[in-house]
Amino acid sequence: MSIKLIGYVMAGVLITSAAIGVVRVQNERGPLSDLIDKTGQSVANATASGAASLVAGYDYGNLEILATNVARQANVIRVIIKNQGGRVMSQAAGDETGSAKRFESPVLFDGQTIGNVSVDISTNALENALGELYGRVFVEQIVFGAILGLIVYLFTASGIVSPILKLTTVMEEAVNKGDSFIARDLEVKSRDEIGRLVSVFNALNKSLASYHHQLHGKIDFANQELQVKNVQLEKRTQELEHALDMLGTMATTDWLTELPNRRKFDETLSRMFHQSQRYAEEIALVLFDIDHFKLINDSHGHGAGDQVLRDIGTLLRLHVRKSDLPARLGGDEFGIILYHTTAAQAQMFVENFLDGVREYAFEYDGFRLNVGLSVGIAQFDASMKAPQALYYAADHALYQSKKAGRGRYSVFSEAAHSQERQAS
Ligand code: GH3
Ligand code: MG
Repeated sequence: MSIKLIGYVMAGVLITSAAIGVVRVQNERGPLSDLIDKTGQSVANATASGAASLVAGYDYGNLEILATNVARQANVIRVIIKNQGGRVMSQAAGDETGSAKRFESPVLFDGQTIGNVSVDISTNALENALGELYGRVFVEQIVFGAILGLIVYLFTASGIVSPILKLTTVMEEAVNKGDSFIARDLEVKSRDEIGRLVSVFNALNKSLASYHHQLHGKIDFANQELQVKNVQLEKRTQELEHALDMLGTMATTDWLTELPNRRKFDETLSRMFHQSQRYAEEIALVLFDIDHFKLINDSHGHGAGDQVLRDIGTLLRLHVRKSDLPARLGGDEFGIILYHTTAAQAQMFVENFLDGVREYAFEYDGFRLNVGLSVGIAQFDASMKAPQALYYAADHALYQSKKAGRGRYSVFSEAAHSQERQAS
């Protein structure tokens, strides 16, 4: 930028300076030319006056001497003296050569023109003087132009280029740092256009900074709001998840005994049944129903029946293993899926459980309640094609217990069952 500027300034100033130089020299040409004219004319006049009596007297000898003397004068190229008729009476040439200017003067005698003198004066001296002047003026104008150019450059550089450069540098720094405004104001050093430019820049920068702060304020506020909303949302999500868990549990739990319900029982039975089918694992199913439960309800009220159902649920939970699934299937009917269990092992479980029921003191409203159970046991075998088959087997065994007088358990046997079918 500054090299370009110095180039422009120097070129402008030097061209102007050269033009001034030419004008100066041309101004000198006039006076110099006048001087030559005066000198030439006075030489011609003096020669004519000197020649007057000699022309009148036809004194060729002295005319010769006069012409030769005049021709010897500096800058004289040629002198010609003619009579009235135009005949050359005398002429002489000087040492000078080159371009010339002619001066004429009439030869007067007694008020009459009797001849004419012409003197050729060399203009070399004029040209040489002008040439020298050109040389001197050229050097002067170059020096003057260079100094002026430098001064103009310094003023321009410090007054225009430097502030613009500073402005640009500050903006570039901000852009490189990724800032959207500049932290401080720039100093206004002058009242000219540059000063105004810096003032306008400062004003713009200030409004940009204030806009930036406002924006940040808004973003901070929005962020805070978002955080609050996030916390609220998290809380809501937890509540919702909890509610969903509760719903899930409610959907698979019996509200009275808090045991798994029929739905859970059916799902688990189906899954375990297919697992047993695939891996040939033992699985036993126990179903039981409270004997004469209606009587408890009828004699002591529905609350007594509910209490008995809850107590049975608690006893059941105490007797099963973690891998077993006890469930209330509806009314006074319960089921237990026993995983990795044979019919014989299920039998042991049932005996223990029945002992537990027998030993347990069922009470409601100060009354002892007699509670007995009829139980059916069935074991999975490969001939069973669906979970319902296992359920049906256990249910059939339960029916057998009821039929045989209640308060007991029966184990389903396929052989006995087919005999039964044949008999009926
Ligand atoms: P059985 O020995 O043949 O089983 O005779 P039972 O009287 O127990 O007859 P059943 O099993 O058919 O009767 C079930 C009764 O259980 C009928 C119904 O009023 C009662 N019951 C069903 N659900 C509930 C309940 O949630 N609470 C109470 N208190 N009673 C119920
Ligand atoms: Mg019953």
